[in-house]
Amino acid sequence: MKIDILTLFPEMFAPIYSSMIGRAIKSGAINVNIVDIRAFSKDKHSKCDDTPYGGGAGMVMMAQPIIDATRALDSDNTAKKIYLSPRGKVFNQTLAKEYSAFDHLILLCGHYEGVDERALELCAYEELSIGDYILTGGELPAMIVLDSVSRFVPGVLGSAESCITESFSDGLLEYPQYTKPAEIEGKAVPEVLISGHHANIEKWRKEKALEITLKNRPDLLNKDK
Ligand code: SAM
Repeated sequence: MKIDILTLFPEMFAPIYSSMIGRAIKSGAINVNIVDIRAFSKDKHSKCDDTPYGGGAGMVMMAQPIIDATRALDSDNTAKKIYLSPRGKVFNQTLAKEYSAFDHLILLCGHYEGVDERALELCAYEELSIGDYILTGGELPAMIVLDSVSRFVPGVLGSAESCITESFSDGLLEYPQYTKPAEIEGKAVPEVLISGHHANIEKWRKEKALEITLKNRPDLLNKDK
């Protein structure tokens, strides 16, 4: 899978080269290309933003560099194009899985007051929010989308099971996890987990998952499947 990320701040993406996503990039399981929008500016000072028509505070990212960059990256017009935006539909695990089925994603990071609407319309960007709050730029949201989508791409996770049993994947939050030692400050690991009885362990995990979901996210239980 190829993921192009359009940004005015390429240096913000240093964290993606660590840990599992970094390994996936190195191994070639995903091909991530951080693209500096400024390289596509026709302005002699590489200017990519200007004041908003109609007045108002702040600056707006200009359409031309974004349109040219998008078309250069997607010459056959087959990529799924996503603009990270608080106006978009809210990202979740179902969407992460859906996006992982595309061979090519383009993630556009806004900044300042956002992006000239015509760039979004002419390039057919879908708007995607990571939650109901405002960040200074789309770079952190793009990294979140990159991370969660990549986890569904074969070869990115060590074990294919990991993304099947996690929170949200079966409509429930995950059960509590424990590792060694068996006791810490008087708190022991639940007996059932060291019993070796797989059916009982499964039953316990299902009960705990239900209990935690009911307590923290009852809305997930009432969701239409
Ligand atoms: N003026 C815009 C508005 O009210 O909708 C907010 C612009 S915000 C300060 C700058 C950029 O950050 C946006 O263009 C977008 O790319 C990104 N951004 C901010 N909050 C976001 C969120 N919740 N989800 C996704 N992207 C976000």
